[in-house]
Amino acid sequence: MKRRMDEMYDMKLKDPYMDRNIYKDPTICPTCKLIYHNKRWFWDEKLYDELMSKKSEVNFKECPACRKISDHYPLGVVYFDKDGLRPDEFENLKRRIANEAEYEIKRNPLARIIKEYEQDGYYVVETTTETLAKKIAKAVQKTFHGDLEFSFSDGHKFLRIEWSRNSEK
Ligand SMILES: [Zn+2]
Repeated sequence: MKRRMDEMYDMKLKDPYMDRNIYKDPTICPTCKLIYHNKRWFWDEKLYDELMSKKSEVNFKECPACRKISDHYPLGVVYFDKDGLRPDEFENLKRRIANEAEYEIKRNPLARIIKEYEQDGYYVVETTTETLAKKIAKAVQKTFHGDLEFSFSDGHKFLRIEWSRNSEK
């Protein structure tokens, strides 16, 4: 089932990795050094050093983003149809994706790109949050125009977005 963006935009997926009960305060992610403290996740070099000096009081557990990456569990997958994209446009598109991801991680450190690859004429970007997938798709649409099509995987496990400039498809 495919629906237009407006309907889909505010729908929220259940994120099985965001159960806060499994994290004790404070927790450090050994993979990316993200800190869980006062019910939120953030990077803080000073606090990190401080916590590392009293390791026995700190819990170590991978953050939800690193767990999704190691489990390969994307919440968003964006398919960019390369049909009709010139090579220089494709390079710009990839840069646009990277910029948007860099911007979003400052807002939410758990929003990461899991994988980017080419497949059957598509450039595919997998993300740890559906919000990052939406933001990347919208940023590309803003720059390159075209259409976005949203659908959910079976069982609402992840949001699938397809971007294409060939609207007759
Ligand atoms: Zn981490």
